Amino acid sequence: MVNKYVASSGHALKVRGAHGFIDEVNEARRVVNEVDKILKTEYNGDGYVFHDNTSTSQSQNLRTLTNFHNSKNRRLDLSVHFNASASSSATGVEVLHYGGHTGIASKLSKAMAKALGITNRGQKVRKDLYVLKNTNRPALLLEVCFVSSKKDADAYKRNFDKLCHSIADFVADYLGYTKKKSSTTVATAGNTETFYKKGAQLGLYRVIKPCSTYSGVDFTQADKLQSLKVGTAFTVTDIVKFGNKYRFKLKNGEYVSAKRVYLEKV
Ligand SMILES: [Zn+2]
Repeated sequence: MVNKYVASSGHALKVRGAHGFIDEVNEARRVVNEVDKILKTEYNGDGYVFHDNTSTSQSQNLRTLTNFHNSKNRRLDLSVHFNASASSSATGVEVLHYGGHTGIASKLSKAMAKALGITNRGQKVRKDLYVLKNTNRPALLLEVCFVSSKKDADAYKRNFDKLCHSIADFVADYLGYTKKKSSTTVATAGNTETFYKKGAQLGLYRVIKPCSTYSGVDFTQADKLQSLKVGTAFTVTDIVKFGNKYRFKLKNGEYVSAKRVYLEKV
């Protein structure tokens, strides 16, 4: 039996979504990628991820997203969005569906709200949304939180890992995936020990293993700036937490991994 999911990020690279304290398109991509990673590494899950990098109009974007979902054999569609409001006090998580999926939509919304520590706005039936209307259901559209709310954006940044795990756990439960009996939890716990963390000394560091700098903290291939050779020294001005990882912010504004294997304090 087909037991896969399709998860896509809302909107497109060239047809941007909402922007506020955080950017919808960028963050939706991060959430989709992280959830997919958890399902494939911590669970025996399998599925497809899609980000629209080509569309130049909203109608093209909606068709492109929907076509991708429908082109795959799967049992669950997830579309990840972030909400926005003119009112800066609007807050919370919502999960939208076309109808008939109140139970799972409620369950997911509740789990995400708990992970973020913000209001659970709950499930909502939406007949007007193209992706929900035109995909073979069940399809759930996640409105993670409000990009227009500083409180939501902060909660999201702080609880990114918890949030992605809450979504992955929901998908795993729904599709019947089981946790791998690996040392994942041990490795995760060990991970944070391998980084220089907040509170570590700032200032001059030297490269002890080749690594790269990036323009953003999520280290996508597109954000890659320069390769650092062993022996290169640079000034660290800040340590930034990203999920369960840490990044050094350099004096020139670029980011590099704060993993201890790459760098030593001079
Ligand atoms: Zn959206």
